[in-house]
Amino acid sequence: MVSDLRELAEVIGRCERPLLTGHIMPDGDCIGSVLALALMLEGQGKSVRAVSPDPVPQIYRFLPAIERVSVGVPPAGFEPDSFIMLDCSDPERVGPDLAVYLDKPGVTAINIDHHVSTRPFAHYNYIDPGASAVGEIIYDLSFELGAPITYEVAASLYTAIFTDTGSFRYDSTTSGTHRRVARLIELGVSPSEVNTAVYEERSLESIRLLHATLGSVERTPSGLVAWASLTIDQEAAVGATGEDGEGLINYVRMIKGVEVAALFRETEPSVFKVSLRSKRFVDVSALAQEFGGGGHPRAAGCTISGALNEVTEAVIRVAERRLAEDSDGRSA
Ligand code: AMP
Ligand code: MN
Ligand code: MN
Repeated sequence: MVSDLRELAEVIGRCERPLLTGHIMPDGDCIGSVLALALMLEGQGKSVRAVSPDPVPQIYRFLPAIERVSVGVPPAGFEPDSFIMLDCSDPERVGPDLAVYLDKPGVTAINIDHHVSTRPFAHYNYIDPGASAVGEIIYDLSFELGAPITYEVAASLYTAIFTDTGSFRYDSTTSGTHRRVARLIELGVSPSEVNTAVYEERSLESIRLLHATLGSVERTPSGLVAWASLTIDQEAAVGATGEDGEGLINYVRMIKGVEVAALFRETEPSVFKVSLRSKRFVDVSALAQEFGGGGHPRAAGCTISGALNEVTEAVIRVAERRLAEDSDGRSA
């Protein structure tokens, strides 16, 4: 484990040809953090390649310099000496094509993350669950690296932090988050422009998907657990793509009285990507880990195979048990 940012900066400082990546089904934090760190290291004269295992969602394509993040594997001929993963809670998060770099001879694997569930699976691991976003860590790292925060870097970091904190609404938001973000605004970032690009320019398909999601909402008799589901057929009927599902889970959580919200999205026949959220005290990261996933105490996820009703029942059963356990100590 790398315990401080100075040591992390030293490790990164030794890399000459770093390959940077975020996770599959990328979000604002991994895209923004990858782009920001790539720009910083490029500015220091390194030969950097930044990739995303899945396409960059449309809502993040407004970011200046986003074309620096390519999709899939790095271009042929590029031989990285280091593999830097951002926002990846386990090695599978980089996807099957990039996983080869984790134990490729001559390649130093570095993971920079903020999930509570993350184990040290790389050669060097910097994990700070107290950071609201990996973007916060990269902001702090810039000072240790001696890399200036240009406007492009600032816009990327702001977007990373803005999206992972739920627009500065979640518990993870601290005074330190606001201090860092204040500096990013001073560097020229427009909060309204980022907000409009990310949340106010949704595709019509995503609104139709919202309609389908809301139509499927159910809750337990206690009202503490609510869930919604989307099948491949429903998604196909509205012409939606994976990224059109961003944020749908929030509508399930916002129901009065709900503590645990779940969204089951069928990604392949009988394979469900499960998004989990809690409102006040249930540790959904622990819940997700029971199904091989992970995440944060209030936002987590996992993938489960099976028939929809079986998958739903299994998750609800564990959610209800965790509700009983976590409400005892209100410890999460
Ligand atoms: P999502 O519901 O996809 O927005 O994910 C919420 C949080 O859970 C994110 O912080 C993810 O990193 C984490 N997460 C989602 N799916 C998985 C998974 N299959 N394994 C580990 N972590 C996950
Ligand atoms: Mn993420
Ligand atoms: Mn994150």
